[in-house]
Amino acid sequence: MAINNKKSDNNKNTNFDDKKFKYIIYYAIIVTLVVFLINDYFVNTEVKHIKYPQFISMVEKNEIKEVQFGTDRIVFTTKEGTEFEKKTLYTGKFQDSETKLKEDLDKRGIPYDKPLPKPISPLKSFIINWILPFFMFMALGRFLFGRLDKKMGSGVMSFGKNTAKIYAESETGVTFLDVAGQEEAKESLVEIVDFLHNPKKYAEIGAKLPKGALLVGPPGTGKTLLAKAVAGEAKVPFFSISGSGFVEMFVGMGAARVRDLFNQAQEKAPCIIFIDEIDAIGKSRDGAIGGNDEREQTLNQLLAEMDGFDSSKGVVILAATNRPEVLDKALLRPGRFDRRVIVDRPDLKGREDILKVHAKGVKISDTVDLNAVAKSTPGAVGADLANIINEAALRAVKNSRTEVIQEDLSEAVEVIIAGKEKKDRILSPKEKRAVAFHEVGHALVAALLHNTDPVHKITIVPRTMGALGYTMQLPSEEKYLITKEEMFDQICVMLGGRAAEEVEFNSMSTGASNDIEKATSTARSMVTIYGMTERFDMMGLESVSNRYLDGRPVRNCSAETESAIDEETLSIIKDAHKKAIDILTENRELLTKIAETLLEKETIMGDEFMKIVKGEDND
Ligand code: ADP
Ligand code: MG
Ligand code: ZN
Repeated sequence: MAINNKKSDNNKNTNFDDKKFKYIIYYAIIVTLVVFLINDYFVNTEVKHIKYPQFISMVEKNEIKEVQFGTDRIVFTTKEGTEFEKKTLYTGKFQDSETKLKEDLDKRGIPYDKPLPKPISPLKSFIINWILPFFMFMALGRFLFGRLDKKMGSGVMSFGKNTAKIYAESETGVTFLDVAGQEEAKESLVEIVDFLHNPKKYAEIGAKLPKGALLVGPPGTGKTLLAKAVAGEAKVPFFSISGSGFVEMFVGMGAARVRDLFNQAQEKAPCIIFIDEIDAIGKSRDGAIGGNDEREQTLNQLLAEMDGFDSSKGVVILAATNRPEVLDKALLRPGRFDRRVIVDRPDLKGREDILKVHAKGVKISDTVDLNAVAKSTPGAVGADLANIINEAALRAVKNSRTEVIQEDLSEAVEVIIAGKEKKDRILSPKEKRAVAFHEVGHALVAALLHNTDPVHKITIVPRTMGALGYTMQLPSEEKYLITKEEMFDQICVMLGGRAAEEVEFNSMSTGASNDIEKATSTARSMVTIYGMTERFDMMGLESVSNRYLDGRPVRNCSAETESAIDEETLSIIKDAHKKAIDILTENRELLTKIAETLLEKETIMGDEFMKIVKGEDND
């Protein structure tokens, strides 16, 4: 466990450890080789002990070839043809008899001047015999087990180990400048940055900063990015883990991980802990069928850790979710995630700013009007806009241009909305005609009603995402409220496609299914959510369960009321359908004229379309 802790601690550190470790192994291998070689040498030239009297008698028999005097022994070799030929022999040394022996050797012409190589010192031999093998085994062990560890890391056997990925970045490199269009969110996070810069300033006055802030908003609005930017601005380490990373198959594992995470973070304070998608562990504990012991334990541990740590040290916990309503109340109470930072869909200016941020990374023509792109993308989030810029750049490359031009961007917007153009889908002339009338039907109803958004583009070029053609309307300004009249007119526009088919061909096609679905849900929400009918007045009949994920509305009314809701919805739709048919019948000539133009040109832009409607075109 201890080794593992270190590993997940900090990437840089881990790398360093690994390198050192490799060096140890290389050393061990080399030293082993050397020792073996030396040993080899000694083994090959067997050393044998001879008693001193025997040595003397050998000297007298003239069998000695060479003698070397050491400090405590005499080493010698014998001549060829004797009993111990080619062997190194030694015998003990007697200090008093040394001079006599040397005289004797002189007399017989046996050389003895060569010094004996110093014997290995006891310290060295101790190191070679004891310490070195110990280190070698340690190194070998670590090496092998390290490998095993990695192999088993993802398996069931790895329980007890923290395999959750805790990303520790010492600096994220992201700053608030990289996050555009979230001014309010940034404002409330600036305080946290300041706190991380200088926790003492707050501690001295006795001000307690929130331990945690919860970033809430639809997917792709930049919650993860904002958390990174806080760390980047404060220049502190950033521990990030995804909520799902805590939940494991064994009960208690997640809790251990939470403990681990907080321990690591506290060592590195000041720092930021970021728990992404916290709803994975933070789900409300009651109401769940059967319960989930593991998740509950993990959550409990998280609550305990949040209460336990000393925030004055400068540890701030950020978490992100797009389902704040499912979070356990205990997580949200003061002292835990008491601060909520809303990261909502960007408005027009926000979208333009986001586009600017991402446009910095690509070569873009000076003539490009990013404001126009922002206008054509109501409801888009940061991730969509980043994607649009990238798609545009890809298209520029495809058309072998060196810069992104406006056309690339508008095409990219449509690719994101409706999919890629599918020019090879060939419609029969009859079908094409039907599609043209259908689309012009939408456009004409939109143009002739007052509470609708202007038509931006009509096209009958098929797209990969199923549309055979489409009509694009763009709001002339950002809207935050929609009136009852506007909603009703929107439904008329949605039903205008089918109405045109009926007026022109007196028949129906399957092409209106998507329109029908949208019109029905709009009409239904007028009845159930917005209180726009006389019958139900301001009674709330449905509530939206997760507003950031476009979740299904939850009904809260009786079965009888349900059928009454259906009746009301139906009557709205019938009214709208009738209105659309009336408008198109009255303007049948115009409908035919524009449809013929569309069949010929395949795409008509909004201003051109309005000219024909107003009779300002030249023919
Ligand atoms: P989420 O809210 O789902 O966590 P992310 O932070 O992961 O969204 O955003 C995904 C990507 O979208 C980011 O990496 C960034 O490129 C882009 N993005 C989202 N919001 C913004 C924004 N406000 N400013 C700039 N880029 C953004
Ligand atoms: Mg995210
Ligand atoms: Zn349609």
